[in-house]
Amino acid sequence: MPPAHTYQTNKVFPNLCARTDTIDVTKNLKNEKDETMKKLLRIHQSSSTHWVGNGFPVRTVFDYNGLGRELSPFLLLDYAAPYAFPAGDEKRGVGAHPHKGFETVTVAYQGELEHRDSSGGGGKIGAGDVQWMTAGNGIVHEEFHSRDFARQGGTLQMAQLWVNLRAKDKSAQAGYQTLAKAQIPTVALPNNAGTARVIAGELNGNKGPAKTFSPINLWDVTLRGGKSAEFPLPDGHTTAFLVLNGKVEVNGDREAREGDLAMFERTGTGISLKASTDAQLLVMDGEPLNEPIVGHGPFVMNTRDEIQKAFEDFQLGRMGELN
Ligand code: MN
Repeated sequence: MPPAHTYQTNKVFPNLCARTDTIDVTKNLKNEKDETMKKLLRIHQSSSTHWVGNGFPVRTVFDYNGLGRELSPFLLLDYAAPYAFPAGDEKRGVGAHPHKGFETVTVAYQGELEHRDSSGGGGKIGAGDVQWMTAGNGIVHEEFHSRDFARQGGTLQMAQLWVNLRAKDKSAQAGYQTLAKAQIPTVALPNNAGTARVIAGELNGNKGPAKTFSPINLWDVTLRGGKSAEFPLPDGHTTAFLVLNGKVEVNGDREAREGDLAMFERTGTGISLKASTDAQLLVMDGEPLNEPIVGHGPFVMNTRDEIQKAFEDFQLGRMGELN
């Protein structure tokens, strides 16, 4: 006799299946909401590197044309792996260019960057700092290596994530948040497994400093080789992480390596990882926006007409200028 809380499926639903498996009902009910880890959907590998201006040798890990819907609210991720720049007098980076309809989040791991935008925002960010820029209804900005860093030379490592805005927030005033290293809480993971810096969202009661338009978790995670860690994340959210270095085991059998993007199913209340070696990850998690995505270059809107309008606004100088 099976225990009282199990049913033979073919007896309860005789037409549903011919199999005679038993289902443990209590276990399924319990797992459904409380304990189900998000399953690995797949490991996405990105294309070769290209230069953004003369300052950023990046790999586009994903973009809105390929994975915009699947990874909503995230639109694009450029990752500049460590690259040694010689000392020099050359100005390195990208000059004035526009954005509209989303936010750009720049995470500096090594080196120093200097930004300036038409909303009057800007500043320097170095290792451990983050810059969160709302392009909103339109902005013009420039992104360069800082003058000191360019002169001295050194290793640059950074990532830039584009976060979409809901249709109603695409008209938000452009703005800029500098999230200094000291403002970003570092959370020790259980069992000495490593640390997580909470840039946005929350982990175990520790809140990140970023103000976001939709619910987002963005964590800079460092794991110790051989250690395992579980991260609670909201059911229904898009969840993915980029491996910056090292190797991480997901689902007990798949290994994500440097440059890989691990993408998870939305169902589940967290992710469970084991570091095969010391590893560093950028964990991205957010509520999917489920709105049409129409992008062209630096503009991401909901319709073609809005893209056309964005080009006109930029050409007519309505996104402002750099002083
Ligand atoms: Mn830009």
